[in-house]
Amino acid sequence: MTPPDDLGPAVTPNDLDAFWVPFTPNAEFKQRPRLVARAEGMHYYTPEGRAVLDATAGLWCANAGHCRKPIVEAIQKAAAELDFAPSFQFSHPKAFELASRIAALAPGDLNHVFFGNSGSEADDTALKIALAYHRARGEGSRTRLIGRERAYHGVGFGGISVGGMVLNRKWFSGAMLPGVDHLPHTYSREHQAFTTGQPEWGAHLADDLERMIALHDASTIAAVIVEPMAGSTGVLPPPKGYLERLREITSKHGILLIFDEVITGYGRLGASFAAERFGVVPDMITFAKGVTSASVPLSGVIATEDIYKTFADSVAGADHAIDLFHGYTYSAHPLACAAGLATLDLYRDEGLFERVAGLEAMWADAIMDLKDHPLVEDIRQLGLTAAFDLAPVPGTPARRGFDAMRAGFHDHDIMLRASADTICLSPPLIVSEAEIGEIVARTRKAFDQVA
Ligand code: PLP
Repeated sequence: MTPPDDLGPAVTPNDLDAFWVPFTPNAEFKQRPRLVARAEGMHYYTPEGRAVLDATAGLWCANAGHCRKPIVEAIQKAAAELDFAPSFQFSHPKAFELASRIAALAPGDLNHVFFGNSGSEADDTALKIALAYHRARGEGSRTRLIGRERAYHGVGFGGISVGGMVLNRKWFSGAMLPGVDHLPHTYSREHQAFTTGQPEWGAHLADDLERMIALHDASTIAAVIVEPMAGSTGVLPPPKGYLERLREITSKHGILLIFDEVITGYGRLGASFAAERFGVVPDMITFAKGVTSASVPLSGVIATEDIYKTFADSVAGADHAIDLFHGYTYSAHPLACAAGLATLDLYRDEGLFERVAGLEAMWADAIMDLKDHPLVEDIRQLGLTAAFDLAPVPGTPARRGFDAMRAGFHDHDIMLRASADTICLSPPLIVSEAEIGEIVARTRKAFDQVA
């Protein structure tokens, strides 16, 4: 028998060694950690009690603001009521209620919701559904997936394969999915610098899909996946007409179009989904983050009537047969569903999506105030998002962005998000005009400090 004192070293509250922090330079972090211990509304609070203005909604996710009472209470109640229901062959009422509410928010006949826990899971799920859908229809030769340069679709093997971020790919290059191709990204500083909203230039980049179809043949292509607005690589709004063109080409060739709305969903662009804002309806939408305002992990895929029915038809007449061989133990976890329902109520009751649409022009004006800053090389904006490209430290890419983020947190009480040398902003949708002014002022101070 193992004696109790042999179970390992004592865990002391201030021991930072054991936790391997994701997407973080761990050695630096553990020298001077950026810790938050509490949150409320627009603010985080450090363990010492210092308030930090959250200009990033955590990680693009706490859209309703932090620790909102109706969400907290719904989670507490759910935890005492039903801790877990098996997610295969059994379920619970709130899962169906939430799926119906999400389907009602989605445009067109995007009527069916498959739940996961993270954006990465949602994206891999959508890619798997695309492959299985074609196979179920007797077009099993459609196995090719098409992503885009500068895309982020999470960290699963599917997501990194269709993703377009070199550092997320090169370390794992031996395990990339075969047969993946990438559209060009849509950013051009030459043609788009300092535009707010959708740039005029770039719709033609969607035509590259026709070139790929000519090269590979449509009969080998299952799906195209894009973020309607690339978020993680620095807010790249779609050029006017671009998404419409992608929809046209994919429909013409029987290729599924997947919108990764992990960031753009749930109000970030002033509508339920980017699909609604742009009036372009894909065949699947993936979502995560804002669905529970980040309070409990939850994600999912919304699929069309046709996709759902294809799977149902594939097992018609055999009522014991499973239609889709996929799922997670924690798909539609009861706590997550309770949090999701309370979050959707809050978005509706406070009109938060409409609030973003009303704030957008003021937000765009406010962030353009930093155009004159000597470090700022470009600014982009869409909905309640913004990105500032900073001049890199010569020879050391990503240093300037990292330093600005760090200065913001330690010295100017603001949480900024750095993606290499780009600083991204995406405050909670409850942000006030005064807080927008404060975000811009503090961001400027952080930039001044690292200039
Ligand atoms: N897709 C997009 C567009 C994202 O922005 C993210 C995360 O930021 C993901 C997928 C991955 O989500 P997760 O980190 O929950 O796996």
